[in-house]
Amino acid sequence: MDLVLSPPPDDASIHTALSDPRRLDAVQRTGLLDSPPEETFDRLTSLASRLTGAPVVFVSLLDRARDFHMSTTALGPGVATPGGSRDQMGRTFCHYVAASRQPLVIEDATLLPVFRDLPGVKAKGVRAYAGVPLLTEEGDALGTFCALDFAPRHWTGQDIDVLTELGQSALREIRLRVALQHAANVNQQLVGQIQRVAELNMKLEELATTDPLTGLRNRRAFDAHMAQELAIVQRRGTPLSLLMLDVDHFKRVNDTLGHDGGDRVLQAIAGHLKACARTVDVVARVGGEEFAVILPSTGEAGAHEVGERMRKAVEDGPWPEMPVTISVGTATLVEGEDPERIYGRADAALYAAKQAGRNRVQQG
Ligand code: GH3
Ligand code: MG
Ligand code: MG
Repeated sequence: MDLVLSPPPDDASIHTALSDPRRLDAVQRTGLLDSPPEETFDRLTSLASRLTGAPVVFVSLLDRARDFHMSTTALGPGVATPGGSRDQMGRTFCHYVAASRQPLVIEDATLLPVFRDLPGVKAKGVRAYAGVPLLTEEGDALGTFCALDFAPRHWTGQDIDVLTELGQSALREIRLRVALQHAANVNQQLVGQIQRVAELNMKLEELATTDPLTGLRNRRAFDAHMAQELAIVQRRGTPLSLLMLDVDHFKRVNDTLGHDGGDRVLQAIAGHLKACARTVDVVARVGGEEFAVILPSTGEAGAHEVGERMRKAVEDGPWPEMPVTISVGTATLVEGEDPERIYGRADAALYAAKQAGRNRVQQG
């Protein structure tokens, strides 16, 4: 006798069940729709085929408007390519299994009014069907693990056990894929978030160490660089020079050009200083119209040379509205000297340059 464990659902309820968004989403998330044949599933279907003697066994995944067959074993004629997969349109036995979420066991479909007009029966000559649903943890039917025969047949209890057990194995494999995919997605999101945090940190660091008016390093960055460079001097004994620069009579510049005009002069001076420096040098704006330049691995002569180049570059402008000059004090730290002394010496040299008439470089 044919075994239908519950009354077969009607067309409308099959349609509703198959269109359920959560179910469709779960099917998509298997990542297996339109996937190429895989040995893992091929083994399960061919084992089921051998154990039950059914000529055709496959895993179906039921998308919105089509069945996707995976790992079809076809010992008999006609229905499918062995190991391959294919789409199938129209109402199928698998739809009944998915809608009822119950196994469906049919010994001769041609004897059952509900099933005898199915395309598989009429066009392909399928007579017997046994399928179990592949249910997610939420109870949504992804599809079926099922067997077909082209002749009426009696499905034994053992056949059903085989299909149920191997169907469970297929389901475990599918769930594993989904879990792995989920883990990969979470991982991907984390990597993205970490990157964004790193980028934000870099931007913050950049903001925290940059002078907004001139784009030069600010006082904070200057202090940090100096601490680093002083430590290097202690370790390696290489010389280190520092330039302190102050715009001459900047009050007059402001008085003549206005505060905004003064700002533009400061920006232009910053550009000149940067252009005269090497990439390893650190050019900073350390006060309103005061600048400092760290010159690593640079002795007295080198420091004077850079200071002079900067002084000249500023003097040369061009300044269409009024002359602009800077005074520069230099100091060089030599091995064994107290590192803190370099600041005082550079400041004193700058003061001396001012006293001596401005627009000059004074060695400290
Ligand atoms: P000296 O040659 O002795 O250095 O003369 P000075 O006029 O430059 O003297 P001082 O250093 O006392 O004056 C600096 C002036 O710079 C005072 C201040 O109004 C102006 N200043 C400070 N910060 C800024 C700024 O960000 N923008 C502008 N436009 N002016 C500034
Ligand atoms: Mg000043
Ligand atoms: Mg000044």
